[in-house]
This record gives sequence, structure tokens and C-alpha cells, in this order.
Amino acid sequence: MISRHDCSTRDLDDPLAPLRQQFDLPQGVIYLDGNSLGARPKTALARAQHVITAEWGTDLIRSWNSAGWFDLPKRLGDRLAPLLGAQTGEVVITDTTSVNLFKALAAALQMQASDPAQAARRVIVSERSNFPTDLYMAQGLAAWLDRGYQLRLVDSPEELAQAIAADCAVAMLTHVNYRTGYQHDMAAISSHCHAQGALALWDLAHSAGAVPLDLNGAGADLAVGCTYKYLNGGPGSPAFIWVPEKHQARFRQPLSGWWGHATPFAMDPGFAPADGIARALCGTQPILSLALVECGLEIFAQTSMEAIRRKSLALTDLFIALVEQRCASHPLGLVTPREHARRGSQVSFTHPHGYAVMQALIARGVIGDYREPAIMRFGFTPLYTSFADVWDAVEILRDILDTQAYDIAAKRDAVT
Ligand SMILES: *Cc1c(COP(=O)(O)O)cnc(C)c1O
Repeated sequence: MISRHDCSTRDLDDPLAPLRQQFDLPQGVIYLDGNSLGARPKTALARAQHVITAEWGTDLIRSWNSAGWFDLPKRLGDRLAPLLGAQTGEVVITDTTSVNLFKALAAALQMQASDPAQAARRVIVSERSNFPTDLYMAQGLAAWLDRGYQLRLVDSPEELAQAIAADCAVAMLTHVNYRTGYQHDMAAISSHCHAQGALALWDLAHSAGAVPLDLNGAGADLAVGCTYKYLNGGPGSPAFIWVPEKHQARFRQPLSGWWGHATPFAMDPGFAPADGIARALCGTQPILSLALVECGLEIFAQTSMEAIRRKSLALTDLFIALVEQRCASHPLGLVTPREHARRGSQVSFTHPHGYAVMQALIARGVIGDYREPAIMRFGFTPLYTSFADVWDAVEILRDILDTQAYDIAAKRDAVT
């Protein structure tokens, strides 16, 4: 049997434990929702003040040059690149994940359409369990193009190999599933795509900053993802898009705004794409929000994704073991894979009253979230979650379940 003492002992041996001091977390809260909105790096407040007062207030328009605002999407993309297994000049931080997915999917379809050997392909393969916005963006693009593109949705990862067939243009997959925490084998699927003549487009919303990534090593073709989840960029912080050097010359995206132009300040009436990753940009970025992304990245620079992964697996293993030991008499169903290679940095359990139980947990300071159907989702962020937090969270869950201290008639908030 594991005890709370065992958990606090592990905290004493944890090389990442000091990093928690770099986050501002409220007293009395065990935050297990960094997969939805990362916690605030303490430096973000002073950074925001500096951007508002000095860069905006004093330097005004000059800050596009003097404070490097214009280069920020690329400069921060280069800081993020090592966490993704990407090279310098392959990533920009810009726009939203939904918009970047639209750009990347459109570019991928166009790359295939412009190759006579692949031009007949009309199928976009994805999973029915993918995050809905990804499917919605693909549906919107396919309908808009009106060239017979269709989505082929599979119901389990095992069906992917067969679905990615000779008629498939692009496999558009989310690397770690937002609901279950299932992690795909990016290298194996990307190489299957290539063997079939398809391209592999990956959404890393629940992977970036959560699990080690090697986009170039895995042979992926394009990728997008969020910065406000595990990367701690702040609410609504801009997303990222990765276009590897091997595809940059062929990459054409439809949102051809002036930031993607070869010479934006030539004010030429005709669009000509910039060389390199800048062609993935569209227009002016929310500089205040974008600037804060760096505060999260500065914390990642003090450790490695391997150290983060080691602790992430230790935390999720501990959570699963404790829930199974201490809440054994309750109808909880583990939906996250036990196999390490297939697990992201979250653990999800079903419970018939999942929404009500999660509301009770939140009321007692254990913040996770709820996703239909009946899934309680707990995100583990090794930068600021301790082993004792895991123990305490499970104790509160056990108490709520044992005493049935949850309201099954709880009214649903707009954001669950
Ligand atoms: C969180 C998430 C998104 C969010 O997209 P936004 O455009 O930022 O709202 C998209 N896709 C996946 C897979 C996600 O997990």
C-alpha cells in the first residue's frame, strides 16, 4: 500500500520540484487541468506590464522594430522548436489551432493535388473521437473546396492502417487524444501514410510540452498545436504551426495575408509568398498575448522533455494506482491506456455521475474537468504538480465518492 509519506518522499527526490516556485498557483488548489489551461508563470505579470507600459505606452509604433514585435512569431517558434523535434526556421507561433489546422490541411491537399501521381486522392482520414474543431475545420474546408473531398472517420486506432489507403490524400490526426489520453505512434503512422502515398498532418494540442516529440525524426509532414495548454502561454495565447524545411517550397496556404508575403512593406497589390516558414503567417498578431508565450517557454528551457516525461509517467502511474486502491468500491472506469508508450500526460476515468463528481472535486479545490460522455479528466503537469498533490487529490475523490457528496442535479456551466 502506498502512503502519503511515500508520496512526499518522492517529492524530496524530484529534480523538477523546484520549478513549481516559478508558477503562481492559488493556495488550497490542486490544479489538474494544465491540459486545458496551463498555470501562470510568475514572470508573465511583469512581462505583460513591460509590454503595456514600455513597449506600447512609451515606444509606441517603434516597438514593431525596437521590441521585435514583427519577428515574434518566428523568434518564439524557434524557441519552441526543440520541444517539438523541429529545426530553427520551421515553426511560427500565430493564430489559433483551428485556423492553423485549416491552413495546414489546405496546404496538404494542394500539395497532393499539384502532384499528378497523387491528384486523384479525395479522402481525409481522421478519428471520430478527434477534438471536434479539427473535424469541423476539415468539413468546412472540404465543403468550401467543392471538389469531392470527404472525411473518412475511424472508430479506433487499429482501423487507421486500413483507412489510410490508396485514395487517402491526408491523414489528419491528433497525436494525444483529448478525452482518453491515448497517444499514437507518430513515426509508424507517418511512415504508413508515406507508403500509401498520403501525407501525415498532426495536431499536437495535447502533446506539446506534455510528451517528447520528434517531428522530423518521425517523418511527419505538417503539424499544429496550442500554447495555452501544457506550454502555459496564457488564456487564448496564439497557437503554432510547423512546416518542415522539406515541404516549405511547396507549402501554399489559402489565408495569404500580408504577414506571409515575401515583402510585406513593399505594399505590392500581388501576393508572393515569403520564403520559409513566414508563408504560414496571415496577419497582425495579438502581441500582448503572444509575448507572454515566452514566459512558459523560459521554464521549459530549464529542464528537458525527457525529465518531464519521466515525472509525467510517474505521476499518472501513481494516480491510477491510488484511485484503483482507494476508490476500488466505486464504479470508475479507466479509459487512459496503461501502456506507457500509448499514454499522454492525463488520466481519464468514467463515472456514471462524472459531471457531478467533478463539480464536487472543483468545489473542494481539486480542479480537473469533464468531457462527454461521463469522463472525468485529470491533467498532470510535471512542472508544477507534486506527488503529494496526487495523494491529496485521490483522498478528496475517495471522500466525495464514499459520502456521495455530489449533486447529481448539478446545473451544467457553459464550459465543462
Ligand atoms: C484544445 C484543442 C484545440 C483548440 O483549438 P482552438 O482553435 O485553440 O480553439 C484544437 N484541437 C485539439 C485537438 C485540441 O485539443
